[in-house]
This record gives sequence, structure tokens and C-alpha cells, in this order.
Amino acid sequence: MEFREKLYIDGRWVPSAGTGMIDVICGSTEEVMARIPEGTATDVDAAVRSARAAFDGWAATPVAGRAAFLQKIQAGLKARSGEIGRVIALEVGMPLKLATKIQAALPATSFGIFADLLPGFPFEERIGHSLVVREPVGVVAAITPWNYPLHQIAAKVAPALAAGCTVVLKPSEVAPINAFILAEIIDASGLPKGVFNLVTGFGSVVGEALAGHREIDMISFTGSTRAGKRVSELAARTVKRVALELGGKSASVILEDADLPAAIKGTVSSCFLNSGQTCAAHTRMLVPESKYDEVRRLVVAEASKYTVGDPFSETSKLGPLVSGTQRERVRDYIRKGIAEGAELLCGGPEAPPALPKGWYVMPTVFGRVHPQSVIAQEEIFGPVLSIIVYKDEDEAVEIANNSNYGLSGGVWSKDEARATRVARRIRTGQVDINGAPFNLLAPFGGYKQSGHGREYGRVGLEEFLEYKSLQFKRDPASAPTTP
Ligand code: NAD
Repeated sequence: MEFREKLYIDGRWVPSAGTGMIDVICGSTEEVMARIPEGTATDVDAAVRSARAAFDGWAATPVAGRAAFLQKIQAGLKARSGEIGRVIALEVGMPLKLATKIQAALPATSFGIFADLLPGFPFEERIGHSLVVREPVGVVAAITPWNYPLHQIAAKVAPALAAGCTVVLKPSEVAPINAFILAEIIDASGLPKGVFNLVTGFGSVVGEALAGHREIDMISFTGSTRAGKRVSELAARTVKRVALELGGKSASVILEDADLPAAIKGTVSSCFLNSGQTCAAHTRMLVPESKYDEVRRLVVAEASKYTVGDPFSETSKLGPLVSGTQRERVRDYIRKGIAEGAELLCGGPEAPPALPKGWYVMPTVFGRVHPQSVIAQEEIFGPVLSIIVYKDEDEAVEIANNSNYGLSGGVWSKDEARATRVARRIRTGQVDINGAPFNLLAPFGGYKQSGHGREYGRVGLEEFLEYKSLQFKRDPASAPTTP
């Protein structure tokens, strides 16, 4: 078992002001794998003071200097990627091979992307007789979830540091060990003290203290819609900037001219990745009524390939869910789906055979799900796919948009122009055409209750900047420029 007894504040590992510790539990063994400090509001104050004190110096550091630190952090993450993959396989339950390929690799790539973006980024622009400059927003609190823990941390910390902001990170208490590894890497990089701080603890204490803190200028939050609403309310009292990346219930719209086997393989894979614990998962599969029987057969065959088991076994495609609470929530949704009268095509609420221990859930597919039913409307966050039939393209778009969420989605058609037309009608932040891959440079974020603000790439960097307009009586071309 791993003991992490200290927080990282003002460039040092320091004990928490409180005495509480939080157990981190491994989903496959159901045993305590680590203990971390249960941070307090006093720890938050200390971290914010340190971030505030470091702000002027970091904001004034030339972009080449900031980029050099991001590159050092990227190199540190790459050097420890095997260890990060193993830790996340234990904390989150994603099979090791995937955890190393996705969970450990993406954060390093993100730090590299922001290092590369900095030199060419237009921090200044002339508009008429004004020089418009872009400055860091200030002290940023990053509050992050457990499902892609280090990726979501990197999607905030890397652009915030690139922009010249200082940061207090509160990672998920459910999967926090990866954040300690990042703090060690940052410490070893020699980043000036106070630029990055780590305070672990519960959302209701550390998260709320950050959201309400007077000396924080921006909260960048990823997590549930419930907690995101609470963070917004608290942040409103001091008129902070808030960026929210929340839940999703994304639709994969399969048009009747789609390559059906490819569409089904792609949608099932998106839905089941990380045991369905992915905010952008395509959890609603929309298919034409005329194709339903064929789709049903293909989906069940595809789902049967998703072997559930120990994340450290070579044959496992799905590991356990992250917690006992999460497993019970998902099982309850499966029971609700059955009670609502959807066709249970495979899976179910019982534990998978031969896996009595560990928070495993069978990959489950429901057919002929009513678009208004609970399992079609609420985010389940488990390996549960709902197939919904439609009669024509207009109805498919209407069903896809019939959601409180709007994070992601897909459209499948052999006619790319037609797929693009349909994609433009879907009210969501991302749409993948014919299973096209994820792009770490393109803006990612939600419409509706999936949140506001965007992450990744140039747009993700802009989130952490303020505009300032300087007016001149003469041509601003002759004004002193560039930090
Ligand atoms: P969660 O909301 O329970 O927790 C997320 C973070 O917020 C954690 O660090 C938690 O401690 C903190 N928190 C909880 N309550 C808080 C409060 N009252 N004030 C301040 N902070 C608080 O979410 P989770 O269970 O960790 O993650 C799953 C959710 O995250 C899902 O809904 C998923 O869709 C969403 N998510 C969204 C994205 C996205 O980019 N849109 C990405 C990943 C996950």
C-alpha cells in the first residue's frame, strides 16, 4: 500500500493542516491501495496564497521560458509513463495496455502541444487605434474527475501554465495517485515555487473552498453536472470565470446508407471504452427501423468480444468500474431499463460469471429503447448501450437533440456530405464522422448541460487569457510590444 502523506504547496511537500486521510480503493481487489491527505480549507488558503504570490513572476516569464518548463514536464511524464499506466489501471480499473496507451500517453502529448503552441500564439493584435493584449487570467483552480484523471488534469494545468497563470489543483479523491506523480515531475522540473500547487481532499470541502475563494480568478471544473452547478453557484459570489466540462449522453446516428459493421464496431467501442466511464461515450445508437434486426444481431456479436476481467490480464477488454457506488448506480439503471420495457439483448445487472470479487459489470445492450425513457436520457457511466429506432433523417436528428446534454456524437453514412449535413444539425460540441479519431488540437466541450468553455489546443489556451485594450492617440504600431 502506498502512503502519500503530504500536499504540494509553495514548491514543497508539506503536511495538511488537518489529520484526516482518505482511502483509495482498487476496483478489482476491493482493497485499499493507497492513502492520501484529506485536505482542509486552511490548506486551500495556503495554496492560494502561494499561487497568488507566484503569479506576477510567472506571468512575466517570457513565453520561451514557459514553453521550456512545459517541455521538461512532458519529458518527465514520458519517462514515467509505464508507472502512470500501472497506477491508473489500479485506481480507475482500465486494462493496463489501454491505460498506458491512453491514460499515460495523452497527458504527455498535451504538455507538448501547449509548448509548441506558445511561440506562434498571437498575444497581441492591433484593432484600429488600440493595441489588444492577451494576459493570463490569474490564479486558476483546477478541479478534476477520476475517469481519465491525468488527461483531464493536463487539459487544464498545461494551458493554464502556458498562458502564464498559476494553479491550485484538486484532483479526484477517487483516483489521485497520478496527480502526486505529476507534482513530483513538476517539482523535479524546477518550476518556480507556488506556480503549481496540489491539494487533495473531498469536493465538499477542498472543492467548495476553492470555488468560493476570493483570491482565485478562475475555476476550471470537469465532473458531474450536479457538482458543476454547485461550483457555479459558489463562484458567482465573487464573479469568477468558470469553465465547466460536464456529463454527456451522446448519440451515434447510423444512417441507412452507412457501412453497418463499421458503424456498429465503432459505436460499441466508443460506448464501452473504460467500461463506459467516458464523458463523450456514444451511449445512444440511433438506427433506421428497417435495419433494426440486422443491427441487433451485429451489436450482440460485437458486445460478446468485450471480455470483462482483471485489468492486468492480457485478455481483458473491460476492467471493473471505479467504485462500489458506481457499480450499484449502473446496476440500478440496468434494472430500470428492464422495468421500462426495453429489450435486454445481452448483459444484465448480475455480476459477470466467475468474477464474484471486484466491481465488474457485464457489457449490456438494450434494444428498442424509448427516447424519453430514463436509460435514454440519463448519463449511466457504465458499459450500457441503448439502441433507439427512427423512421427518417429528421426524426433521427430530433432524437439525437432530445437530451439535456450536448457533448459529443457521431454520424455514419457512405455519403460524407450527407453525414456532414446531419452533423451540423446536432446540438453538441463534437461530432465524429464515420468513426474519425479524437483530435487533441480541436476544441472539446459541451452545449447545454454538458457545460461551457472549451479545452485542448489553441482554443483551450485562450480560455485562460483575459483581453486588455490599450488605446493610443498615435499609431499603435510604434507602441512597445510583446513581453
Ligand atoms: P464529480 O462531480 O463527483 O467529481 C468531480 C470533481 O469535483 C472531483 O474532484 C470532486 O471531488 C469534485 N467535487 C465534487 N463535489 C464538489 C463540490 N460540491 N464542489 C466542488 N468540487 C466538487 O464527478 P466524477 O464522479 O469524478 O466524474 C464523473 C463525471 O464527470 C461524469 O458526469 C462525467 O460525464 C464527467 N466528465 C466530464 C468530462 C468532460 O470533459 N465533459 C470529462 C470527464 C468526466
